[in-house]
Amino acid sequence: MEGHYTRQTKHGKCKISIRILDTLFMNSDLVEVLVPIPLMERFSYLPPKNKGFPLKKGSRVLVPFGKRQLVGVIWGFGKQEVSDKRKYKHITEVLDQSPLLDATSLSLAEWSSRYYHYPLGEIIQYFFPPSLRKGKEAKFRESKYLELTSKGSFISVDGLARAPSQQKLITLLKEKKEISLKSTQAFGISSTAINALLEKGFISRFSRELSPYKKLENKKLKSSKILNSEQNKAVEAIKKVQGKNKTFLLDGITGSGKTEVYLQAIQDIINQGKQALILIPEIGLAPQAEERFREYFGDRVMSFHSAKNEREKVDAWLGASRGLVDIIIGTRSSVFLPMKNLGIIVVDEEHDLSFKQMDKFRYSARDMALYRAKLQKIPVVLASATPSLETLRNAHEDKYEVLKLNERATGASLPTFQAVDLRGKELSEGLSKELLEATHSELDKGNQVLIFLNRRGYAPSMICKVCGWISNCSRCDALMTVHKNPLRLHCHHCEAQKSYPKKCESCDSDDFLTYGFGTERIEEFLQNNFPKVKTLRIDSDSTRKKETLNEYFDEIRQGKPMILLGTQLLAKGHHFPNVTLVGIVDADSGLFSADFRGSERVAQLMTQVSGRAGRDKKQGRVILQSYCTDHPQIEEIISGSYERFAQKLLEERKISNIPPFSFQAKIFAESPKSLVSRDFILNLLNRSRIDEKTRKNVRLVGPLPSIMEKKSGVYRWELSIFSKSRSNLHKFLDVMQSRLYDPKLSKQVRWSIDVDPLSSL
Ligand code: ADP
Ligand code: ZN
Ligand code: ZN
Repeated sequence: MEGHYTRQTKHGKCKISIRILDTLFMNSDLVEVLVPIPLMERFSYLPPKNKGFPLKKGSRVLVPFGKRQLVGVIWGFGKQEVSDKRKYKHITEVLDQSPLLDATSLSLAEWSSRYYHYPLGEIIQYFFPPSLRKGKEAKFRESKYLELTSKGSFISVDGLARAPSQQKLITLLKEKKEISLKSTQAFGISSTAINALLEKGFISRFSRELSPYKKLENKKLKSSKILNSEQNKAVEAIKKVQGKNKTFLLDGITGSGKTEVYLQAIQDIINQGKQALILIPEIGLAPQAEERFREYFGDRVMSFHSAKNEREKVDAWLGASRGLVDIIIGTRSSVFLPMKNLGIIVVDEEHDLSFKQMDKFRYSARDMALYRAKLQKIPVVLASATPSLETLRNAHEDKYEVLKLNERATGASLPTFQAVDLRGKELSEGLSKELLEATHSELDKGNQVLIFLNRRGYAPSMICKVCGWISNCSRCDALMTVHKNPLRLHCHHCEAQKSYPKKCESCDSDDFLTYGFGTERIEEFLQNNFPKVKTLRIDSDSTRKKETLNEYFDEIRQGKPMILLGTQLLAKGHHFPNVTLVGIVDADSGLFSADFRGSERVAQLMTQVSGRAGRDKKQGRVILQSYCTDHPQIEEIISGSYERFAQKLLEERKISNIPPFSFQAKIFAESPKSLVSRDFILNLLNRSRIDEKTRKNVRLVGPLPSIMEKKSGVYRWELSIFSKSRSNLHKFLDVMQSRLYDPKLSKQVRWSIDVDPLSSL
């Protein structure tokens, strides 16, 4: 389309004729592009010199940046001001025929950039799998085909009698119109024949995408379970709000059938041709969830997480964005997946820390899901047996509708609790007589036992008996863990490894004591003491290989008597029907945390791991070992009510005015010198132009050294910022941000902003 517009220049008005591009404004001549660099600034380019795909918001482009070519995303269009004397470069090429990101994705990115104070150009990368970030075509795998050209369709087959292979191909093509290059071999057609026909212009080659998704089949799927009345009420409540934004807290005890509830609520939504996104905290939970969803929804269920290869990721991404998949089950990063027609989001185990990314772009997938649902006017279901205090507060304030499930769906009761006071007791490698006897008795009955210890390795430290040398990590304020398989010292904070010392570094003695217990050590003991059953150790060391974890879970679900020994990997959301006893080796770890969120975490973890007991027909029990059984928190946990526990914590938090009764952000600084990190924050505060009002509306705590000040060889300091109002918190952060992103700022210090921080280690 040709158009005209008048432009005011220094020399007066002049009429200019330009070619108007599809979505470019009449008078615009600049394209704003998000490029993946750590600056808040956006960059403008001139349209490409050569005609190509249209310029549209959300399309990827190749742009020159310094000496490099970067893949960016078109964000908007503008006009070069007359006063603007900068020389803009041209976009090299538009990469997509139609935009890959829709308006929702762009709005979500913009919101999160403002909310998390993180550059939009980097955030937008999260919306693509790696190969699309690099500019690869957004396509399914392609297959090559042959067809006749118009010249080819007129030739007579008889004329090719002397070239039988060519003759055969032409005959086949006349009959079938097209055949895949792959199948030519099976027909006995030589590649020489194909090349000859291609050269003569009788046939041509073309490619076609092979979608891995089948058309919706009406397969007979497993019919749904009959819900109990609590479940029924929950499903009905969710169904009622379709097409509107509303947040539900599905708060049900472990094994109460929460998954069943959202499965059935989703069924209704899928029947209307919409899609569902299910966020789960751990890759390890994906196979179990996928299997359950497939029972209901067949093949149009996909999972998306880091264990998938790039082809699988791109396929899921395309399937979601073209509406070929109904259900996506995925970890944190799936919240960025473009979905053609999203109808509901479920965040399962919403309290789980894994939903928060702890470095770079420190987003919470749960909170982004809440915002996304608002943008798309759809319901969200937050499900948990141990909701976070933030979520509980929102529920108390009626921002969320609470759907309660108080009974176990299988009719089983919650496990009973028994505390074992370890004071003055003889222990066998950390295990009490009570726990060992109970283990014996459950195994004898053919049941499974889960022993929980959230510490991997053999022993958390080693000490020289002669001089007291201790296995400190030289790069962290932490001890190096002894590992036996293979024998070494390993720092779990910086991953540094050292060979196991033959002699003490300071006194040459070889008399060491390995102090404390880790999963490897207990495994050794259990294997020796329960030789007839298998002890399966499940921690991040034993499941390093991609498939191992799933193989282990499959083995557990077969139900043979065995001991499962593991870390939090075992605590989350798993359904192991034959586990009747859960032994918590060390209930005290985490009780005396310097982090105010410590108690909440302990209560969640203990409740979750206990919830693995007696989930099916058999009654379960939990044995909890502690040196302080009269500690109020241990008493609460034993009473088995997370709800009451959470209520107490909320009251404490309210008195101290900390989250969720105020909003928090942190600014971290790290450098090889402790005082440099501290001074960086002090300077930031002193030199930023913070007006009186903005300053007054926040409460600053720090700069203080982080709980583990030295980690991986750098010293970390932090400033905590609290405010009663989110907007005041953001106003303050905006001021900080404008200084932090100044390119002239010292490069000696690495800094980051964390909004709604969750962990302080
Ligand atoms: P949660 O997600 O709350 O941990 P699940 O949905 O996994 O609970 O349910 C726990 C167990 O109870 C599963 O084996 C599930 O198949 C079963 N279950 C759930 N709802 C029902 C029901 N209405 N009738 C029978 N069994 C059910
Ligand atoms: Zn020594
Ligand atoms: Zn270390």
